Amino acid sequence: MSLHIYNTLSRKKEEFVPLVSQEVKIYHCGPTVYWVQHIGNMRAVFFGDIVNRTFQYLGYKTTFIRNYTDVGHLTGDNIGDADTGIDRMEKAAISEMSTPDQIAQKYIDMYTKDVQLLNTLIPSHSPRATEHIGDMIALIESLLASGYAYTTPEAVYFDTSKVENYTKLSGQKIEENVTGSGHGDVTKTSKKHPTDFSLWFFKVGPHANALQVWESPFRSTLVTNGLGFPGWHIECSAMSKHFLGPTFDIHLGGIEHIPVHHTNEIAQSECANGVEYVKYWLHNEHLLVDGGKMSKSEGTSYSLHDIVAKGYDPLVLRYFFLQAHYRSKQNFTWDALEASKVAYKKIATFLKSTSDTGNISKEYKEKFIAAISDDFNTAAALALVHELIKTRFVSDGDKKATLLDFDAVLGLDLSHLATADDFPELVRGLAEKRNKAKSEKDWELADKIRAELHDLGYSVSDTKDGYTIAKL
Ligand SMILES: [Zn+2]
Repeated sequence: MSLHIYNTLSRKKEEFVPLVSQEVKIYHCGPTVYWVQHIGNMRAVFFGDIVNRTFQYLGYKTTFIRNYTDVGHLTGDNIGDADTGIDRMEKAAISEMSTPDQIAQKYIDMYTKDVQLLNTLIPSHSPRATEHIGDMIALIESLLASGYAYTTPEAVYFDTSKVENYTKLSGQKIEENVTGSGHGDVTKTSKKHPTDFSLWFFKVGPHANALQVWESPFRSTLVTNGLGFPGWHIECSAMSKHFLGPTFDIHLGGIEHIPVHHTNEIAQSECANGVEYVKYWLHNEHLLVDGGKMSKSEGTSYSLHDIVAKGYDPLVLRYFFLQAHYRSKQNFTWDALEASKVAYKKIATFLKSTSDTGNISKEYKEKFIAAISDDFNTAAALALVHELIKTRFVSDGDKKATLLDFDAVLGLDLSHLATADDFPELVRGLAEKRNKAKSEKDWELADKIRAELHDLGYSVSDTKDGYTIAKL
């Protein structure tokens, strides 16, 4: 069974062929750590995790890198406008009366906790952009040496006119990009072409008060020792090269990165290294809330904390994410999350009611591999889970073993779910009392307690070595 994935670069589903047999190198553009990540960001993290877990399940050795952007990501990152505004870290530092480094650490800690609650595998490396300034400077130097970049008093720019097929990832025509953008005020910068982008900002003009700056070998008449900070795009080219080499298998990110950030990563990496940058580009669609874009001002920019505060297990959100294909928009509503909770509980109820573990069903495992090998179709994989629970042709023990095997990809923490004793004290007490009554052959009392539990919404059934409780 071969794995087929949709490659944004070719705009079609392709058979995945790794650069090195049974190994896969993956880079995922991580968060800019200046604010609490919303559940849309969590969907992106979940998607990266599914890719990582799927490859591991299929027997690949994965190297998975997800960075933290802690410098250079400016507030104006619309098409044609990526070089305007001020650094997001800096804006947050000012409004929280803190330093950019403290801001980064605070939001990295929150993010790390959230992604752990979502049961995502820890990446092989999670570098911070500020730890790789030297790698970025080296890349920029080689671009300057080969004529792909130029220096002005304000910045070092990448010259997009020198690149053949600059927009190969997005398929955009440059003219459309420029006239359609409306934001980029080219006359205010010293760029030669509107699509040129900054590799290094000198500490001048709007950035004269920049809080995070480094000396560099680049020269501006307006600063000493090339003082400044890197542009956003160069960081991913530098960090991916550092950890994965100049050419690697898979690059992940949200669809918003296609026209600018990833387009620029390809241009600068391929010009600096002289080899193809990435074989397969995968992009996840956005999460909507109540049918619209998430909005901080309308209070729909929910965080994982909001989900937990409403009494939901974070894994219910993970279950919700599993229901949609990553290339489809998914609409979050509280009703939809409630439905996910009910469906997740069904799996829990089945697992708790089955004490024996048998053998993995070959038939279902094949079907499961077919689903996830079809461009990571988690919706189909999840449908299969419920089909398996219902079927009469597989024993309960085998079902359980199969579900626990699938969980290596699903990440729903099913082995814990199978044994978790999360019933209220009262319910556990009654079940224990009934068990004691039974062992004393007081059938009348045992039946009375069973009815009492039933009224509370629980069933109790006897097993070889005791009993199990389940919610009705
Ligand atoms: Zn990136």
